[in-house]
Amino acid sequence: MKDHAMIIDYKYCTGCHACEVTCKNEHDFSEGEWGIKLTEHGPAKMGDGWIWNYVPVPSKLCDLCEERRSTGGVAPCTIHCLGQCMEIVPLEDVSKRLAELGDEAAVFIP
Ligand code: SF4
Ligand code: SF4
Repeated sequence: MKDHAMIIDYKYCTGCHACEVTCKNEHDFSEGEWGIKLTEHGPAKMGDGWIWNYVPVPSKLCDLCEERRSTGGVAPCTIHCLGQCMEIVPLEDVSKRLAELGDEAAVFIP
């Protein structure tokens, strides 16, 4: 039974791929397997400008680094995220945190 969730505030994601790389370094995933994968949407014309969205998506392999956190550690992706837009919070705090972050944040519960 999971008691935590990952929240990603997409508006601050820079598309740096650090979450992918640090997760891959932490775990012994096979080639082609990822705990989280960055998807990109764009560039797309919007009005007079362009938009380019980055959307990191945790996979079924992501367990929120349960083992590391159970010994007092921190999920490495949340440390190395250049946008500082990833966090792991107790389930009971998810609604409050989403309300604080606004409508570009998403929640992942393994
Ligand atoms: S919480 Fe752990 S398993 Fe999940 S994406 Fe981050 S580093 Fe990978
Ligand atoms: S590490 Fe953070 S800023 Fe970089 S791609 Fe992942 S979620 Fe986005």
